[in-house]
Amino acid sequence: MIREFIVVGSGMTGGHAAQTLIEAGRDVLMLDGGIQRDAGATSAPETDFISARELDPEQHRYFLGDAFEGIPWGDTEHTLTPPRQHIVSGTERWLPWIDSAFQRMESLCYGGLGAGWGAGAAVYTRAELEAMGLPPTELAPAYREIAKRIGLAAESDDATPFAGAGLSGTQTPLRMDLSISQLHAAYLRKRDAVRSRGVVMGKVPMAVLTADLGTRRATAYGDMEFWADPGQSVYRSWMTTEALRGQPRFEYRGGLLVTHFREHADHVEVEARRLEDGSIETHRARRLVLGTGTLGTARLVLRSLAREAELPLLSNGYCIAPCLHLRMLGRALERHRTSLGQLEMYFDPGRAGLDVRMVSLFTYRSLLLFKLVREVPLALSDGLALMHALSSALVLATINHPDHADAGKRLRLKSAPDSPTGDALSADYAPTAFERRDNDRAEQRVLGVLASLGCPALKRQHMKPGATLHYAGTLPVSDSERPLTLDSDGRLAGTRRVHVADGSGFRYLPANGLTLTLMANAHRIAGRLSRRRDDD
Ligand SMILES: Cc1cc2nc3c(=O)[nH]c(=O)nc-3n(C[C@H](O)[C@H](O)[C@H](O)COP(=O)(O)OP(=O)(O)OC[C@H]3O[C@@H](n4cnc5c(N)ncnc54)[C@H](O)[C@@H]3O)c2cc1C
Repeated sequence: MIREFIVVGSGMTGGHAAQTLIEAGRDVLMLDGGIQRDAGATSAPETDFISARELDPEQHRYFLGDAFEGIPWGDTEHTLTPPRQHIVSGTERWLPWIDSAFQRMESLCYGGLGAGWGAGAAVYTRAELEAMGLPPTELAPAYREIAKRIGLAAESDDATPFAGAGLSGTQTPLRMDLSISQLHAAYLRKRDAVRSRGVVMGKVPMAVLTADLGTRRATAYGDMEFWADPGQSVYRSWMTTEALRGQPRFEYRGGLLVTHFREHADHVEVEARRLEDGSIETHRARRLVLGTGTLGTARLVLRSLAREAELPLLSNGYCIAPCLHLRMLGRALERHRTSLGQLEMYFDPGRAGLDVRMVSLFTYRSLLLFKLVREVPLALSDGLALMHALSSALVLATINHPDHADAGKRLRLKSAPDSPTGDALSADYAPTAFERRDNDRAEQRVLGVLASLGCPALKRQHMKPGATLHYAGTLPVSDSERPLTLDSDGRLAGTRRVHVADGSGFRYLPANGLTLTLMANAHRIAGRLSRRRDDD
């Protein structure tokens, strides 16, 4: 049987591409890793964080994990909480990675990385979209469509030109806690002076409900977003696929690793292995749409078309600066609040909406003190007492930098005889000397502004390349039919029927999180495909 469309992946891109095709009346088979949490695993209760800490005798099971898997030890690759560890389950075996200085996170789970994302949902500026090779006039309505589907909490403020321009129908913004609202008030008092330094403060839109939407509930500010999905108020990508599974023209097949595709005259053939027993399945469709994530798509394309080739790679530079908000010393954070991002700073060095730096400000509570204590250069008991006293005044400034393609940032598929597919991905990634200097200057600028608002930085910690978990740029959009590039419909050069809906095509990576744009672009590509005849 030859289907109309095969979409691979139930993540942010696969899910929204599939929804658009289904809404246009097309037939879709979704193939997916689809790993879910063990049905028997302990879940966090539907209560707020303080109540769970004060009252639940079983709290160690979700906060620390039955095998203490929630306690990072040594040079940890990720800090996913125990209830979110299924996001990376199976990847060491099925998506092997040859150790390098680049930090990757891939997923074979139901919903992909979006099962645990932080919900920051930025609209890119026109200059950024153009640098990425995306058409701003097509993206503008696509952003609005995705906002309608997933629900965004946003307001018009000084950050809107950098993160939320052109949205409509949004809900009221997330409430700021005591610490962040005081910092914002300090900004408003010094606004003109801060803006004269090229820096503004405001909110990135958040994919969190502040009013009910369908069966999903407004956030109760229980501060449990990293541990559970209370009321489904934070949008997670599996929700889209879950809703599609009731549709007659949609079929979902999970538990699969797609390994290859082959194009024939009138269809594409896709080979997959069952994760359960390694057995092989073959599926056929007029068109294939890959939403396997930038790294996953690179594996599939290299293995199917050009095993020896090297691909470019983009990922944001990332620095975390713990800061001490002096007004908060000796004061407590309120019970009902969120540990998600509450306020952002933007630094636009050229005042042109390009190479803008994005800084998210987080207060710290529900991720637990033991993770901070291991960063303190004191004995455990002293570090714990100090962090306990300071934690309500801590503000984590996470500074994200844009990324540009360069010969020193490459991805390749290497032979790995022990892996089930006989290969493994590997990256060489080094920012240029110019980028390092430029990023350093930008960090000093924003941290200088934060200090002037009463929130000085204690240190700067530069994270490993890849640590933002934002990846893009492996198959850059091109106007020519150059091998290993995409056209503006996401079609892979040299093929007629293979399309890529994820971030592989982005030629440039802005500092803001890419995921709202991933969804909008997947919707745009699927919309264009849905209007084509089979033989176009
Ligand atoms: C903790 C965390 C916080 C984050 N916070 C933010 C944020 O605040 N803002 C932001 O913009 N971004 C954030 N991100 C990044 C965001 O989650 C990703 O950019 C986004 O989810 C990527 O979606 P995707 O569809 O491209 O790919 P993925 O999420 O990687 O989905 C890939 C899908 O394909 C399936 N798959 C992969 N390979 C195969 C295969 N070979 N065969 C079959 N199926 C396959 C997987 O099962 C999955 O369903 C965060 C990520 C994490 C982990």
